[in-house]
Amino acid sequence: MREAERLDWDIALYLEAKGVRPSCRAGCFYCCYPWVTLSRLEAEAIRPHLTPAQKERVLREGPRRLALLRERKDDPGFPGWFFQKAFQEGTPCPLLEEGLCGVYPHRPLACRGVLTESDPERCRPDAPQPSAYLQPPLRMARLRMEALWEEERARYGFLVLGEVAGLLYLLERLPKEKEEAVALLEGLGVLGGRWGYQVV
Ligand code: SF4
Repeated sequence: MREAERLDWDIALYLEAKGVRPSCRAGCFYCCYPWVTLSRLEAEAIRPHLTPAQKERVLREGPRRLALLRERKDDPGFPGWFFQKAFQEGTPCPLLEEGLCGVYPHRPLACRGVLTESDPERCRPDAPQPSAYLQPPLRMARLRMEALWEEERARYGFLVLGEVAGLLYLLERLPKEKEEAVALLEGLGVLGGRWGYQVV
């Protein structure tokens, strides 16, 4: 995916120019517990690379996350609550494998933009002094996402945004027509609200 390569490049240039050395390391995965949002095109780029075991986990975790969203999509504290709950229950992103991203070359733009210089322990959801993620990479990721959203609109005529496990789970039956996509997501009770799926 072009935007992913461009984002990696932008971030590498920024880190080099500023002399910033992130403390993020393979095997550290606190940032794989929070709620990760991506667009349909990103999900389409990931799906062909899923192994049978990853597909199996998406089949289990996708419906569970859709159900959580149905109950709590208007809750202002939802992302923080979800992060704590996923951490306590030991249920990170279903694409995580033995502490490593199982789709690393294809991972979402949102994941690529999360970097810190802090002590990695500060990325725990229960850390007394939470980690401060580096802001420029987050902003760079957002800009690349917006560019991809335009590509998705050009391809489908509309944009679908959702959570990684749920969207991968729904992807094969996500309609190509906007009204049908809205009907599907409304029927599942996950459209709109503060944290729900967006069709725009
Ligand atoms: S896609 Fe990969 S990097 Fe992103 S949350 Fe899942 S396991 Fe972590």
